[in-house]
Amino acid sequence: MLTFLSGGTGTPKLLRGMRNLVNDNEIAVVVNTAEDMWISGNHMSPDIDTVLYLFAGLLNTETWWGIRGDTFATHRFLEQFGEGEFIAVGDKDRAVHIARAHLLWNGATLTEATAAIAKTLGVEARVLPMTDAEVTTYVETDSGPMHFQEYWVGHRGEVDIGGVVRMGQANPQATPEVLAAIRGADAVILGPSNPVTSISPILECRGVREALQEKFVIAISPFIGDKPVSGPAAALMEAWGMEPSSAGTHALYKDFVDVFVQDVRDTCEVPGSLRLDTLMSNEKRAEALGWELMAIVRSVRKKRA
Ligand code: GDP
Repeated sequence: MLTFLSGGTGTPKLLRGMRNLVNDNEIAVVVNTAEDMWISGNHMSPDIDTVLYLFAGLLNTETWWGIRGDTFATHRFLEQFGEGEFIAVGDKDRAVHIARAHLLWNGATLTEATAAIAKTLGVEARVLPMTDAEVTTYVETDSGPMHFQEYWVGHRGEVDIGGVVRMGQANPQATPEVLAAIRGADAVILGPSNPVTSISPILECRGVREALQEKFVIAISPFIGDKPVSGPAAALMEAWGMEPSSAGTHALYKDFVDVFVQDVRDTCEVPGSLRLDTLMSNEKRAEALGWELMAIVRSVRKKRA
């Protein structure tokens, strides 16, 4: 089994290619939940939804969020009632948020709710929220703390930020399912997800770093030079006091990573890193990166056999 740590764009792109090489039922994905929020009374878990929709064959891979071909009738109609949402929630997407909210209200854990939704959507990969506790990423702005989704989606990242904080339970317990998925993996792969808002919340869950130290771990940098391939990772790394680069990313992972992968175009030098083409602008390119990673995993398996 391969276990991935994922946010909602970089690692899902890699998973899209990996699925051509590995059966879904041999894949586990530990997913960031620190961007979750209640919206219009329902529970949105953006990274979990992206990963579920990917494995269900429903994902809009133009945007890497939401359901392909979804409509937005409810979202638009809500505005007439003064209930405008800062994030565009599609109608089918909202149905999933409603189902999740009901499951949670009825006492299910987020892990159980995710499993139930995955079953309904026919997802065979194991999609695991990092924790069942509530923890949320906020950015510090001049007008006070702001939910990361509001900063990035609501304000398109056009707000000066002075820091990044997690609100709710600090260092929540990773679920037993997450720790079992890491311990039982042939290799753990950290895709090129945002180190501050996607991967670090998972690493902060109690038990995860220790479990990773025991495993063969590959991590892929989301940076090329001082810029991420997309998204606000540079501003967030700076606000977090880390260098916005592959070197800064490596510094966060160095106590457990075995193979650190940088893009061939990256001007930053991380000693000992492996250079590969990590730009996954389409499925074929993601698959090609997947083949490279599988070759590494297989060679380690052989050595250990
Ligand atoms: P989010 O939850 O939507 O923020 O998504 P993630 O955290 O999973 O991924 C965002 C990161 O993916 C960004 O920092 C990008 O730099 C990175 N990324 C997106 N596409 C690619 C790609 O093709 N190659 C690499 N190396 N990184 C990518």
